[in-house]
Amino acid sequence: MGRRAEFVPYRPKTVLNKQKRADHWFWTRYSAYPYKGCQHGCAFCYCREEKYAPYDDPNDFAYVIQVKQNAPELLRRALSKLPRDAVFTGDYQPAERTFELSRRMLEVCHDLGFPVFVLERSPLVLRDLDLLQAIEARARATVAFSIISTPDAPHYERVCALERLAPKAEKRFRAMEVLARAGLITGTCFMPALPYLCDDDATLESVVRWTADHGGRFVLAGGLTLSDQQRTYFFDVLQAQFPDLLDRYQALYPPGSYGPVTGTWRKTALKIREACVRYGISDRVPRPIVPGEKRALNKRVVEVLANQAYALELEDAPAHRVWSYRKAAWAIEDLEQDVDLIYRHMGRRGLEGIENVGPQLALEVEALLRTLRNELGGSTLTLDGSGF
Ligand code: SF4
Repeated sequence: MGRRAEFVPYRPKTVLNKQKRADHWFWTRYSAYPYKGCQHGCAFCYCREEKYAPYDDPNDFAYVIQVKQNAPELLRRALSKLPRDAVFTGDYQPAERTFELSRRMLEVCHDLGFPVFVLERSPLVLRDLDLLQAIEARARATVAFSIISTPDAPHYERVCALERLAPKAEKRFRAMEVLARAGLITGTCFMPALPYLCDDDATLESVVRWTADHGGRFVLAGGLTLSDQQRTYFFDVLQAQFPDLLDRYQALYPPGSYGPVTGTWRKTALKIREACVRYGISDRVPRPIVPGEKRALNKRVVEVLANQAYALELEDAPAHRVWSYRKAAWAIEDLEQDVDLIYRHMGRRGLEGIENVGPQLALEVEALLRTLRNELGGSTLTLDGSGF
């Protein structure tokens, strides 16, 4: 008989992690999770790293689940004092059927008008479809599925063995279809792109095709990272189950490395991008803009600049070019004022006055403002800053 999960309730002092600004991958600024440990027990899971899960026995990660009993109350208290921005939340492992903490945390986000980003390997998330729709109507809800292979891909059985107790990919795609039909933005996080198992052309093409066929709007690629006890655990699993892969992984991830030594991930992400173009979807997550958002134009400009930084990274452009876009995006994210208002008061020189926005980027931002203003339904501010 398999080992049974054990649940350990506790009351942490805090539940919310916050960053200075939204990240450029999921567009979340905050994150909050109700459980530590995950019953899906994927062999490659980065949550086994010591900083996340200091277990004496790494197998406990999938069987000893710490339950943050007061997570919804802590989340409400923390978000009540913070500027509105997207929250990375939700965890639909089997424990959620009993404790329903993810649902209660979504209720908090809904009550306070915060957008959410949920990333799942389980269709149990559909239980809360009504709530996700209510959040979408008020503040935007994006639900992505972690999917790294498909039933028709060459190494699917091996990938299933490594994802252990997670529901099969076909179930996740069916859930994606339900969410898409319900009007939510959904898609795939192709994470982690496991070398030799998920990065062949057939698998990449297939993941993008299945996503598009099930109403997904994006496939976001991310590489495998390996560190301390998580690395040891993963290599032990390879040794036991797929010894033919162990040497290859050890060569790709020498001791002391975190990501792979070569540009493996970049090549994979480029192929994902090309496939997304063929299937008419994106390889980036769309940034949620809350209806009536005061800085909507700033956020859209930031999104375009950040996506340009990513495009340059994929092209292997010099680091200074990548960073020029990234830093300009950060500076505009941090602006207190509306970037369009600055432009209309002071012209391009006003844009050049923004930190890390030089003459060339000011030209690009100027062009962007013209396009995005129309996309967002015309400018929303008069020169004195009042609405019209
Ligand atoms: S479902 Fe996600 S969090 Fe859970 S073990 Fe797998 S990778 Fe980790």
